[in-house]
Amino acid sequence: MKLSNNLNVDVIIVGTGVSGMYAALNLPSNLKILMLSKETVEESDSFLAQGGICVLKDDKDYDNYYQDTMRAGHFENNPQAVDIMISSSKETIRDLINFGVDFEKEKDGSLAFTREGAHSTPRILFHEDITGKEISSKLYEQVKKLSNVTLLEHTTMLDIIEDSKRCYGIIYKDANGDIKTATAPFTIWACGGIGGLFEHSTNFRQLTGDALAIALKHGIDLEHPDYIQIHPTTLYSTKKGRRFLISESVRGEGAKLINSKGERFTDELQPRDVVTAAIRAEMTKEGTSHVWLDMRPLGEEEIKTHFPNIYEKCLEEGYDCTVKPIPVVPAQHYFMGGVKVDMNSETSLSCLYAAGETSCNGVHGANRLASNSLLESLIFAKRAARHLQDREDDKKDYEAACQDGRLEKAFDAIVDSEYYDFNQLMSDYSYSLNSEIRRQRKLTEIRNKSQADKDDLLN
Ligand SMILES: Cc1cc2nc3c(=O)[nH]c(=O)nc-3n(C[C@H](O)[C@H](O)[C@H](O)COP(=O)(O)OP(=O)(O)OC[C@H]3O[C@@H](n4cnc5c(N)ncnc54)[C@H](O)[C@@H]3O)c2cc1C
Repeated sequence: MKLSNNLNVDVIIVGTGVSGMYAALNLPSNLKILMLSKETVEESDSFLAQGGICVLKDDKDYDNYYQDTMRAGHFENNPQAVDIMISSSKETIRDLINFGVDFEKEKDGSLAFTREGAHSTPRILFHEDITGKEISSKLYEQVKKLSNVTLLEHTTMLDIIEDSKRCYGIIYKDANGDIKTATAPFTIWACGGIGGLFEHSTNFRQLTGDALAIALKHGIDLEHPDYIQIHPTTLYSTKKGRRFLISESVRGEGAKLINSKGERFTDELQPRDVVTAAIRAEMTKEGTSHVWLDMRPLGEEEIKTHFPNIYEKCLEEGYDCTVKPIPVVPAQHYFMGGVKVDMNSETSLSCLYAAGETSCNGVHGANRLASNSLLESLIFAKRAARHLQDREDDKKDYEAACQDGRLEKAFDAIVDSEYYDFNQLMSDYSYSLNSEIRRQRKLTEIRNKSQADKDDLLN
């Protein structure tokens, strides 16, 4: 059975986390927008973010914020992307506040800032320990008001429609299991991370890097798919499923990492990869499956008011963190690599954009600085939304392609049979992405080794 065009819109946004929603909110209301979410809207990692969102709190902090981001990223960051993120942070936070996002305030009514690992100063805005839920739910309220947006939940993008080096739309499976297509002059991938590929991850299980696997299939450039961040502190559990994150800001506020003898073994405020390595080394030395995080230095009141969600979750698992240390272990958490994009968030395939965790614009380098990802997702999603609006020639070309048979030709090239066995397709996608991650990891190891050898020769 040949697939045909089911839906024609102006912009397709795959993903309804902060990047997808903020892109939609930055598009004009006269554009017809289709949004898809693999599960419900609330089941995106954006709703899980705990610690907060960074902002340039005053211009004097620019150099330190820039250096903190670069140092955490091992100076492999793209300086231009870092500058864009920091310079656009204040207007983005203003936007969020205008959308009704409620950040913690000081007694005098000014914004309160917290601190996380590898930040030289407190510059993180937060809402209790559910900042992501606060931001995402307020954005969602705004998206629901948009009459130009059709949002489909339990709907999965299976592939893109491509011809003559440009993207014309997507193939998807709807909530009834039917295979459908949607075409548009512009498509934005806002598909989140890859945690679903890992046994232990803080991410939702359905986030399996589908956009990256589709990119590999179509020869769309990826960047550093092996740059994967492990979070040092997730609540240790032997149960299956998502691991519960113990936010970095808990350590920022004074919690201490200790071994089974109650001894501190590292500086808790170092970058994530350094703390993770220290925990792993301690676990190996002691032959344990976890270490401990002592939150008691924060005091009971701070724990219950600043971290109520963490407090409750620990209680559910049988640990009262106001009284005793809790068991913690590193787990996959964030993806610094992704579909390679330029500063307007466009991929190497024309008219296809990517934003948020799915994309790599180089902001994070080899390792993300805590609380930079919500900010980066929002800023670069907005840049995609702004950039595509000016592409009159590409809109005209799309309309011509609908008329002159080019779109028809793209449909003819689709082998529809591969989409009917969903499990096989998803397993093929995971296989190809995992293989690429392994291949890139090897290349990075070789590159680092030859650099170390060169350094040895110079010394
Ligand atoms: C536990 C946790 C705590 C965190 N804390 C912080 C923090 O304090 N500060 C910070 O800055 N960052 C934090 N992060 C990271 C941050 O939450 C994410 O990087 C960010 O929310 C990513 O947003 P996104 O829009 O790119 O993706 P997501 O919010 O993950 O959304 C992805 C969307 O894509 C959809 N999707 C995926 N594949 C498909 C497909 N094939 N078809 C259709 N839809 C698809 C999903 O259904 C979902 O709607 C945290 C992450 C986790 C997991």
